[in-house]
Amino acid sequence: MSIAPLPADRHGRPLGVLRLSLTGRCNLACPYCCPDDADPPDLLTLEQQVRLIRVGCGLGIHTLRLTGGEPLLSRRLLPLLQRVTEGRATPAHPLQGLRDIALTTNGVLLTEARASALWAAGLDRITISLDAVDGPLAARMAGLRGGAEAGTRLVQQVLAGLEAARAAGFDPRSGALKLNAVIQRGVNDDQLLPLVELARQRRVELRLIEYMDVGNRNGWGPEQVVPAAEMIQRIHAHWPLEALGRGIGGTARRWRFSDGHGAVAVIASISEPFCGDCNRLRVTADGQAFTCLFAATGVDLRPHLQDEHRLRQRLVALWHDRHDRYSEQRAETPPDRPHAEMAYLGG
Ligand code: SAM
Ligand code: SF4
Repeated sequence: MSIAPLPADRHGRPLGVLRLSLTGRCNLACPYCCPDDADPPDLLTLEQQVRLIRVGCGLGIHTLRLTGGEPLLSRRLLPLLQRVTEGRATPAHPLQGLRDIALTTNGVLLTEARASALWAAGLDRITISLDAVDGPLAARMAGLRGGAEAGTRLVQQVLAGLEAARAAGFDPRSGALKLNAVIQRGVNDDQLLPLVELARQRRVELRLIEYMDVGNRNGWGPEQVVPAAEMIQRIHAHWPLEALGRGIGGTARRWRFSDGHGAVAVIASISEPFCGDCNRLRVTADGQAFTCLFAATGVDLRPHLQDEHRLRQRLVALWHDRHDRYSEQRAETPPDRPHAEMAYLGG
């Protein structure tokens, strides 16, 4: 059966990346994210998830990012990876179009056994989030009670997770292992250089994320954002940098350390929006499709998920109608509207 290619959206942007959230729950409670305590009812089944990915691949998806909430809390993670990997290995299977499967995790549950199982199941890349090196600040950024002791334990757990992933085969030199950090002015901006130093020591690329106005619960304000240009200037004063740029459809603008110690990146969704080539479709754990991280509502895919043909038609119509460019509009006229929560959307 030949499949009609998916037309670009109303701004000429093709579909390329599926960010699939496996759960809205989390084992941390980062105040900038504010996850829910419980999952929404009617989570997608494994069959529905696989069907969504398969149909998505037929429409141009080449990258799958599994996220949450905390995806390592989901029992579906390994079975889903195994099913997708089987498809990728089958000649002429639509899943052969999938070039890359990535996971975003807070790393707390990333034991050696877990990391090895993920590698064996066919995961290509892991990004681990860590917002501070200092114990008390790590606790504050993760919403942990227990102050310095809890924060120091968290940092140790996350770094153990990072090393478990490296030992399992996720090689930072090929981009298969990275660190993410959200920088919030007045809270953890003094962690910028310590985080960069840690990443350099551990030989992993660090992605510094501008604090974003996702969700309605975190009390976001523009004064809490440290613009990427300022972050880069501060790093450059310590470790000179050379610009590498941002790939088409990518989120991160990368810089190489002039001394040869790897690279660092910024995700400047607030100060330098990249809506112009955004190729991402987000689907929540209960099957709501969002064509923008900053959208208020999604489209319920569940009525279409039993049948590949119907699902394909719905996704084609959804992408065809897509005209979101919220981050660019924010800079022009800040719209006053609610946003879906980050832990529900998956980042
Ligand atoms: N629990 C996993 C984790 O923390 O990596 C995956 C889900 S989390 C929602 C995905 C990413 O979104 C994390 O790197 C997190 O730091 C980031 N994030 C959450 N809320 C954010 C916000 N308001 N602004 C910027 N990044 C945010
Ligand atoms: Fe959990 Fe990740 Fe949100 Fe932090 S950012 S609360 S680890 S989902």
